[in-house]
Order: sequence, then structure tokens, then C-alpha cells
Amino acid sequence: MLEIRALTSHYGRVQALHGVGLALQERETVALVGANGAGKTTLINAISGTHRASGGAVIFRGEDITTVPAHRRVRLGIAQVPEGRQVFTVLSVEDNLRLGAYTLSRAAAARGIERVYAMFPVLRERRDSPAGTLSGGQQQMLAIGRALMAEPRLLLLDEPSMGLAPVIAAEIFAAIAALRRDGTTILLVEQNAHAALAVADRGCVMETGRIVHDGPANALQYKDELRRAYLAA
Ligand code: ATP
Repeated sequence: MLEIRALTSHYGRVQALHGVGLALQERETVALVGANGAGKTTLINAISGTHRASGGAVIFRGEDITTVPAHRRVRLGIAQVPEGRQVFTVLSVEDNLRLGAYTLSRAAAARGIERVYAMFPVLRERRDSPAGTLSGGQQQMLAIGRALMAEPRLLLLDEPSMGLAPVIAAEIFAAIAALRRDGTTILLVEQNAHAALAVADRGCVMETGRIVHDGPANALQYKDELRRAYLAA
């Protein structure tokens, strides 16, 4: 479904990615872990198109999308749940969901909203509330729901458990596990490596702009690379 070849990315003169290669099969969930500053967000943004690569290629379902703008990538089936959720705080829950449905017809959007409410019933209860009045966990559910509205083939999740109490984070991971069971292809960036690996098929470790390990998620849980990745920064 997704193939990343020799990807490089810069912020001015700072090089954040140094030739990253990664492939995701259809229906696969891959957890991407590593220390702060390793380049995980940069990689996810290069896939969604919110930060352009400076070299290499992003191939999605056989098409080279390296220079395709972000809004067109949404239409191709790539949706991102950004770090820090970034919901529109003054808009209602339901309006936030509608904003995620700009590629859909009215009927499809209404069906999508129902699907999100079935997945996260608390969002139905709060449908008319401004998103800024939701708890952190509810805002994360809303951010995931908004991304799902676009009916993505590939879902990019950037640190979905960040700042959440463990019991709330567990709910978010349960939702990710359910999406995986439904066959969504997922790239999951997480600081919480053990929880992420528990819902993933494969695990990749990033260190200073490179992928230094790529293998089955259950094997990685016990590997030295994982411990090293968190000491590297
Ligand atoms: P975190 O978990 O802290 O988000 P990360 O693994 O996602 O870390 P990135 O945010 O992708 O890492 O950062 C990779 C590198 O790029 C780091 O060295 C960081 O300092 C640098 N960087 C990220 N964003 C910018 C920016 N806007 N301007 C300059 N350098 C940046």
C-alpha cells in the first residue's frame, strides 16, 4: 500500500530524515517508536504531505505522490491524526466531524458521523458542545473520528496517547485495535512503545532520522534496540 524510498527531509539547513525506507502492506498496523527528535513526526508529515520531503519518494498504491499536495492525498485515502489533536475548539463536536468529511457527499458524511458515534458514544452525547470543552481523551477520540470521516485507506496517528491518563490511553489503544481488526492500514507513532507494539503487526525504531530496526512487533518488545532508542536522544 505504501512504500517510502530513501526519503530525506530538511527544516532549512537541519536534516531531519536521512534516507528512510519503509513499506506498509494493506491491512497492516506498524508502530513507529523512538526518542524525541528521532524524526517520527517529520516522517508522518512527509507521508501526509504537510511537510514535503527534500529527496526520495513516497509511493502510495503504485502512484508516486512525493510532490502531491496534502489535500489531494486525503482524496487518495491518506488521513492524519496530528500530534496534539488540533481539534477546532470553538466549533461543536459535530462540526469538527463535518470538517473531516469535505471529500464526501452529504449522505456519506451523515453515515460517517453515525459510524464515529457508534465507535465513540461519548461524542454523540457531546455532539453540540464546543470541542474545547471536551477532556483530553475525548478530544483525541474526536481527532481520530475526524480523520475517519474521510474513509481513509491509510490512517496516520501521531502520538495519540500523549498527555492522557493511563486508563484513557487504554481506551484509545482499544479503539486503534478495533480499527486494525476492521482492516484499516495504520502507521502509529508513539512514545508509549509497549502499548503501541501490543496493537501492531510490525514495529520500527527510528534513531536520528533513520530506521534502525524493522521487524515483528511482538519480537521488538524485548529487544535492546527498543531500550536504546529511548536513550539515544
Ligand atoms: P517528537 O516525539 O519530539 O515529536 P520526533 O521523533 O517526532 O520527536 P521530529 O519532530 O520529526 O521528531 O523532529 C526531527 C528533527 O527535526 C529534530 O532534530 C527536530 O529538532 C527537527 N525539527 C522538527 N521540526 C522542526 C522545525 N519546525 N524547525 C527546525 N527543526 C525541526
